[in-house]
Amino acid sequence: MQSVVKETAPALTLAQETNPWEAQAARFDEAAHRLKLDDGIWKVLRYPAREIIVHIPVQMDDGRIEVFTGYRVQHSVARGPGKGGIRYAPDVSLDEVRALASWMTWKCAVVNIPFGGAKGGIICDPKSMSQGELERMTRRYTAALIEFIGPEKDVPAPDMNTNEQTMAWIMDTYSMHMGQTINAVVTGKPVNLGGSRGRREATGRGISIVTDQALKHLNMVPAETTVIVQGFGNVGSNSAKLLWDKGYKVIGIGEYDGALFNADGIDISELLEFKAKKGTIHGFPGAQAADKDEILVSKCDVLIPAATENVITSRNAAKLQCRILCEGANGPTTTVADKILEEKGIFVIPDILANAGGVTTSYFEWVQDRMGYFWTEDEVNQRLERIMIDSFNDVLQYSVAHGVNNRTAAYMLAIDRVAYTTKQRGMYA
Ligand code: NAD
Repeated sequence: MQSVVKETAPALTLAQETNPWEAQAARFDEAAHRLKLDDGIWKVLRYPAREIIVHIPVQMDDGRIEVFTGYRVQHSVARGPGKGGIRYAPDVSLDEVRALASWMTWKCAVVNIPFGGAKGGIICDPKSMSQGELERMTRRYTAALIEFIGPEKDVPAPDMNTNEQTMAWIMDTYSMHMGQTINAVVTGKPVNLGGSRGRREATGRGISIVTDQALKHLNMVPAETTVIVQGFGNVGSNSAKLLWDKGYKVIGIGEYDGALFNADGIDISELLEFKAKKGTIHGFPGAQAADKDEILVSKCDVLIPAATENVITSRNAAKLQCRILCEGANGPTTTVADKILEEKGIFVIPDILANAGGVTTSYFEWVQDRMGYFWTEDEVNQRLERIMIDSFNDVLQYSVAHGVNNRTAAYMLAIDRVAYTTKQRGMYA
C-alpha cells in the first residue's frame, strides 16, 4: 500500500479537481493531518474495508442477454452496519462509488448515528431500460450481494435513478432468500412496506434546519434572507418549499437546462403545482427565465446547490456572491474551490452535515422496522430537528476550538469519532 501518512495534500490538477475520490482523499488527509491521527489508523480509514464487483447477466425484453457491472463498496463498518445508496447511471465508476462510500462514513459520524459508510452502483442507462429490465437487474444485483447486505451488515438506500420501487424489489428479493420478510435490509421504501413517514422530505428539511441555525449564528432573519437553489428535484424542491414556508425569499431556481429568477420571490407552492402539471419549471409565469450558470453566481444570501457534484469549481468560485453556501448535493464544491470560498469569507455548511437529514431519517426507518412500530410524521420531524441542531452546533464548536473552517471541522469531528471507535474495537488477529 502506498505511503500516504502525514503528507499534506499535493496541489491537484484540473482533472483531479473533479475526481470525487481525489477530492474526498484530499479532505480526509487535511483533517487527519490536523488531528495528528495515528499512522496506522490513518491507513485503515483512508481506504474502503471491502469493494465488491459483480457482473450481472440480465435477460432483456427482446430476449438478448446483457451483462451489467455493479459495485458495492463498504468503506467502514466500525460504528455499525454500512449505510449508503445505490445509483444507476452510465458513468458510475469504482472511484466514484469509493468516494461516496467514504462520504457516508463521515456523514453518519457527523450526525452521530450508529452506521458506517457504504455505497453501490450499476453501470447502466436506466432511461433506456423498461421497468421489467430494471426489476430483473435489481433482483440479480441483490442476489449477487446477498451475503454482504442485511440489517446488521450493510443497508442500501436509493440514490441517483433508484427510488422506492427499487428498494421494494431489493427488500423482496432479500426476503425471498431469507424465507421471511426482512424490511430493515434497505431504507427509502414505500411507507406501506416499512418506509418512514417524513423520509421523502427529510433531506430538504435538514437543509432548512441548518440554514435556520446559520442565520441565528450570523444574526440574520428569514424575512430578509434571499435564497437561490440549484436543482428542483427531491432535495432542491423540498428545501425551497420548506424555506419559503418559513418566510425566506426564494429568488432563483436553477435546473440543468435553464433557470428562473424573481427578485420579489418565487411562490414555491405554485411552482411545485406548475412542475407537477407540465413536467418542467420552464415557462412558469411567476418568474423570468434566467441563465443556468448565471443563477449560481447571482447575488443572494443563501445558495443551495442541490443538483449534482462539481458545480462550484476553480472556474466559478471567485464569482459566487452568497453569504452562506448550504450544500444540498453530495460533493458540489471541489477542494480547489474550498480555498477560494474561505478567502471570500463565505459561511459553508458542508454536504456531510447539510444533507445528512436524509440518512438520519433512514436511520429512523431502520429503527422503526426493527421495532415493528412506526412513528407519526411529527415524531420523525422532531427527532430529526434535534439531531440536525446538535450536529450543527458540534461542527461550529469544533471549528472555533480548532480554528478551522466548517468543512474541515466536520471531517475532523467525524474522523475523530470513527478513529476512536476503531481503536477501541482494536485490530482483530
Ligand atoms: P433528483 O434527481 O431528485 O434531483 C436532481 C435535480 O437536479 C433534477 O431536477 C435535475 O434536473 C437537476 N439537475 C441535474 N443536473 C443539474 C445541473 N448540472 N444543473 C442544474 N440542475 C441539475 O436528485 P436528489 O435526490 O434531489 O439529489 C440531488 C443531490 O442531493 C445529489 O447530489 C444527491 O446525491 C444528493 N443527496 C440526496 C439525498 C436524498 O435524500 N435524495 C440525500 C443526500 C444527498
